Amino acid sequence: MNHKLHPHLNQLVRSATLAINERSAEMAADGQTIYHFGFGQSPFPVPDSIVSALQENAYRKNYLPVEGLFELREAVAAYHNDVDQIHIEPEGVLVSPGSKELIFTLQMAIKGSTLIPAPCWVSYVPQANLVQRDNQYIQTRFEDNWRLLPDQLDFAVKQTSGPHLLILNYPGNPDGGTYSAEELKALANVARKNNVLILSDEIYGRLYHKGEHVSIARFYPEGTIVSSSLSKWCAAGGWRLGHFAFPKELFWLKEALASITSDTYSCVAAPIQYAGLQAYNDKDTVGEYLFHCRRILSTIGNFCASTLLEAGVNIQSPSGAFYLFPDFESFRISLSEKGIHDSAAMCEQLLQDTRVVLLPGTAFGRPAEELNARIAYVNFDGGKALQTSREISMEQNLTMHDLGDNVINVKYGIEKLIDWLKE
Ligand code: PMP
Ligand code: GLU
Repeated sequence: MNHKLHPHLNQLVRSATLAINERSAEMAADGQTIYHFGFGQSPFPVPDSIVSALQENAYRKNYLPVEGLFELREAVAAYHNDVDQIHIEPEGVLVSPGSKELIFTLQMAIKGSTLIPAPCWVSYVPQANLVQRDNQYIQTRFEDNWRLLPDQLDFAVKQTSGPHLLILNYPGNPDGGTYSAEELKALANVARKNNVLILSDEIYGRLYHKGEHVSIARFYPEGTIVSSSLSKWCAAGGWRLGHFAFPKELFWLKEALASITSDTYSCVAAPIQYAGLQAYNDKDTVGEYLFHCRRILSTIGNFCASTLLEAGVNIQSPSGAFYLFPDFESFRISLSEKGIHDSAAMCEQLLQDTRVVLLPGTAFGRPAEELNARIAYVNFDGGKALQTSREISMEQNLTMHDLGDNVINVKYGIEKLIDWLKE
């Protein structure tokens, strides 16, 4: 056979997140204890009422409308209106098998280039490359909490050919940080002035630890698509249900994406959409569940950050999601004595020496020579943690001590990392 890949696909590799998850699973299957901070998957169970809705709707076998079940689109729109205080109509919601699919389709569909503040989620740039779309990282700085600054956006717009799509993700993967309303306003002003389309990836919005996530769509409604999904806040990554919310001004774009998806995935699995309907409608269950998820994540994230900080690692305390993005620059000399000069070598050696799994900063678009990496602090039993948190009054603080043995793998993992750095 003389079949070949297109030349631009010759360098294809597996997404770093999915690859590390499979590698860790193989190591664990060999009986090795793994300190798995590599993969960003919610540790919590999906709430019972939502699992029941999936079971009860398993018999539904017909294709659903390409854009999604209308009742689900209404529920997602109502959620954006109530929780995010932005005006979204049901007709502006497009449902997909995970938000990843729609981010890819968007990058394929529109002209121009993508601007991506880095560190960023692993798949934005590979997706752009798959469709040979121009794209550019905007390197943010540790000192700025990895936030994109308005001047940086302005500068990047002037340096690249438009029209521009900015992908802004907050709370952020891999840094766990977010933007204040004032910071979002300032970015919105630059975007409006330069006609930048914003894809606001708010997949971790409901996992902002303080619970008052603000969307940039409040300040730039006409130019913002809000992306989210059941994967993180509802802990249902494997169910594959995501959605985009478009303002009226961008309905033309939603129509185009819906046409593309009608020729690619057709629609999201019917039972999953009915379960999604429950997820968006059962506000009491979800409110209580999210309170505990956030409290647990905040306790564990802050423990990891403060322990590392005390050990001399540069790190910010987390605001949301379940990630930290420490910088090990202060250990450069001792690391270079071990022959380690970049983040990939650092994570590989760490894994081999200690079985602590981190993903290197390069996977998130950072320059190879930097010594940063992502910690996904989800290596605990989410079901047990919820049970513990529910036994403790909502007014009280939840501590690592309360979480007990359940967080032992987190504690040992962080300890092992520190011992290795100090060896
Ligand atoms: N955006 C970010 C920032 C993510 O971390 C993920 C991770 N899965 C996605 C988008 C895609 O999620 P999904 O396709 O499961 O909705
Ligand atoms: N978002 C998760 C992560 O960053 C994993 C899933 C994915 O990348 O699609 O680890």
